[in-house]
Amino acid sequence: MKADLHNHSYYSDGLLSPSEVVSLASRAGCDLFSLTDHDTTDGIAEAKLEAEKVGLNLINGVEISAFWKNMAIHIVGLGVDINNDILQAGLEHNKELRKMRAEKIALSLWRSGIKDALEKTQMISGGHMLTRTHFAQMLIQEGYCKDMKSVFRRYLTGKKPGGVRVEWKDFDEVINWIQSAGGKAFIAHPFRYRMTHTKIKKLIRDFKKASGDGIEVVNANSSSEEIALGNQWAEDHDLLASCGSDFHGWPNQRVQIGNLIELPNPKRAVWSHM
Ligand code: AMP
Ligand code: MN
Ligand code: MN
Ligand code: MN
Repeated sequence: MKADLHNHSYYSDGLLSPSEVVSLASRAGCDLFSLTDHDTTDGIAEAKLEAEKVGLNLINGVEISAFWKNMAIHIVGLGVDINNDILQAGLEHNKELRKMRAEKIALSLWRSGIKDALEKTQMISGGHMLTRTHFAQMLIQEGYCKDMKSVFRRYLTGKKPGGVRVEWKDFDEVINWIQSAGGKAFIAHPFRYRMTHTKIKKLIRDFKKASGDGIEVVNANSSSEEIALGNQWAEDHDLLASCGSDFHGWPNQRVQIGNLIELPNPKRAVWSHM
């Protein structure tokens, strides 16, 4: 089973259109695919049209920003009904938080001498939802930094000018948005948070208690150690497993669509339970 269930289009911070992303998945020979833009399902209608055209099995997805103990985490929702009111009200809330954050980031950059940040960043996003990645691209384009890594470190995190805190909703509420829409909720990329293994295990335990469905055991270029640990934690808490390339189409893309290491235990795979 070649599945890739975590991907982005330009409806959030990816570079390509939903059709282009679906077309890449089809050419890579994926059996199962999901578009999971940050806090929006707006790209799914186009992805569905293209998936039908090329005969690709598409699962509706979304990657939602949330809080666990005041730390930002990402929850991937798979198999959601995109017309569900509870889900869409939640996503609208997050989009509003993003708008307010973008204005604060622009103001803060202006105070440190970077003019017209909002306008320039909106040009880059083509009027779509703004993410920090768009500010990062703008700052690179304007010559303030040379690459994504340094721009996030110097401008977009912590106490840096664009490091604006967002009060996302608690993860149990976000799980509810996803499950109300008939979907399953997964902790995205458990090893990409600044957390010790002990802390990640606490997060997974709390996620299970809050009726979360699973964890992303394979994300992009996960190491074999990470995959083994994620798989073990899924076993420990009787959680499902998912996998995705986290494709954005950027030059520093870690793995290409459909090029993932297989899940160690296919019986726990999300597609065996949908
Ligand atoms: P946002 O959801 O607007 O806060 O933006 C977060 C997105 O920025 C993530 O989904 C990543 O795609 C990207 N990102 C976060 N940190 C980094 C980093 N250090 N280097 C490159 N991209 C990053
Ligand atoms: Mn992203
Ligand atoms: Mn993420
Ligand atoms: Mn992602």
